[in-house]
Amino acid sequence: MSIKYIFITGGVVSSLGKGLTAASIAMLLENRGIKTALLKLDPYINVDPGTMNPFQHGEVYVTDDGAETDLDLGHYYRYTNSILSKKSNATTGQIYDTVIKKERKGDYLGETVQVIPHITDEIKKRILDCATQEKDIKVVFVEIGGTVGDIESLPFLEAIRQFRNERKKDCINIHLTYVPYLKAAGEIKTKPTQHSAQMLREIGIIPDVILCRCEKPLDDSFKEKISLFCNVNKDAVMDETDVENSIYEVPIGLYNQKLDQMICNMLNLKYEPIDLSRWEKMLDSLINPKKKVTIGIVGKYLSHQDAYKSIFEALSHGGAHLNTKIEIKRFESDKLLNDQNLLNEMKNLDGYLVPGGFGSRGLEGKIFAAKYARENKIPYFGICLGMHIMTIEFARNVLDLKDANSTEMEETQNPVISILEDQKQIEKLGGTMRLGAYHCSLNANSNAFKAYKKQVISERHRHRYEFNNKYKELMEKKGVLFSGTLKDDNLCEIMELKDHPWMLSVQFHPEFKSKPLSPHPLFIAFIEAALKHRQTK
Ligand code: GLN
Repeated sequence: MSIKYIFITGGVVSSLGKGLTAASIAMLLENRGIKTALLKLDPYINVDPGTMNPFQHGEVYVTDDGAETDLDLGHYYRYTNSILSKKSNATTGQIYDTVIKKERKGDYLGETVQVIPHITDEIKKRILDCATQEKDIKVVFVEIGGTVGDIESLPFLEAIRQFRNERKKDCINIHLTYVPYLKAAGEIKTKPTQHSAQMLREIGIIPDVILCRCEKPLDDSFKEKISLFCNVNKDAVMDETDVENSIYEVPIGLYNQKLDQMICNMLNLKYEPIDLSRWEKMLDSLINPKKKVTIGIVGKYLSHQDAYKSIFEALSHGGAHLNTKIEIKRFESDKLLNDQNLLNEMKNLDGYLVPGGFGSRGLEGKIFAAKYARENKIPYFGICLGMHIMTIEFARNVLDLKDANSTEMEETQNPVISILEDQKQIEKLGGTMRLGAYHCSLNANSNAFKAYKKQVISERHRHRYEFNNKYKELMEKKGVLFSGTLKDDNLCEIMELKDHPWMLSVQFHPEFKSKPLSPHPLFIAFIEAALKHRQTK
């Protein structure tokens, strides 16, 4: 049977949750025994989001094969088991880069290279590459970033139009749109949706399903109106209401409207009965937890909703697993030391997490948190930069190397974190960090091993600076356990404190590999330690 394609476009406003929606539908189809793959097409000109500020773009999600990608891929990972790789995200920058390189090679000799057909052909090739990256993929979701009507997304929509035209029976378009409730008028408004569907029609795409983001379920009369104006069957106008408690409710809402069955019928897909009991059980413990811990996150991109997306999600997965509500307190590390109220608030928590980050702003605030956690035996979880912070703090305050620092921050006599020789030669900043999955061997007598319960693990990286092994012996003597080492090499991947209930840091990003149905072992262990700490308070 031919591979089927589901295109997801967005109308009216951005941030409607196209990624979440694509992931939720993929989860429902997967549950019915249909193997899926997902592709995010991003209309910006950056080759990848790796060089963007987290305030611009939110989190950069990293795949096993080392692609720095859009954070929607994190949703894909959490909701499904489909493959994620370099082939799961393409940007305008990548598409043009490929076409221009081909032109220089002479691949188009004699031709004028144009958006149609050369750019659109390359986009279509990316869709096929995603579809064929593994055997037996039955359905490919293609999510187009941005909003219909944006200048940037036009080539992508044109490519979809052509792609659909070439495979009429194998493609559908789901248009996610916004149906606002105007308080002043006391009315629900469908006009923006009508306009966005009209804009799609002008491009030559008629949606097969319209999903309406709205505050409350839509009355039939509104669905009829949208159906009439947008040329879509009334049954295929569905609502995606704001979820009350958790984003993991989205698939349930879509399932209740039988969207997955409708899609299977439209695409002539065979499907098995669905079983959402594990998902529902997870939701129940996420929404109605019996216990509670308060975790402080000390970072510097906390005002941006999505900058630490996977970390918040991984904490919630661990919390659901342990029937524990995770109350999160956010501390802007550059404000912490100048604000007595913040400092007082920070001191009364059950655990601290210092996430990844770049640059020296807010460094001392994070170091303060690590010192406080170490001295007061409060659980501490350092991730990437959070491990550098734990190292610097220990070196300064236990080894008494007052000028200890990372060479990312400043040149110093005591570079406890430094850059590897092979990174020193690098001049280009895009895509040149240590990226993707590496194996790490664990010390059997450690909190890390207790959590993972296995000897060799694989985790994803995104960083340039490493622990400097010159300081290893000194730190060991004073109580640091280097509990995870890069397999076949000597790089530190995990460190922990021996004389502390749970102070553990990792050079990699465990948050990228946590799912609600299989929470990450380190997040579970951290929350368990925080629960224990809370009981002793
Ligand atoms: N800035 C640090 C480095 O490049 C840490 C990166 C991170 O936390 N992801 O090594």
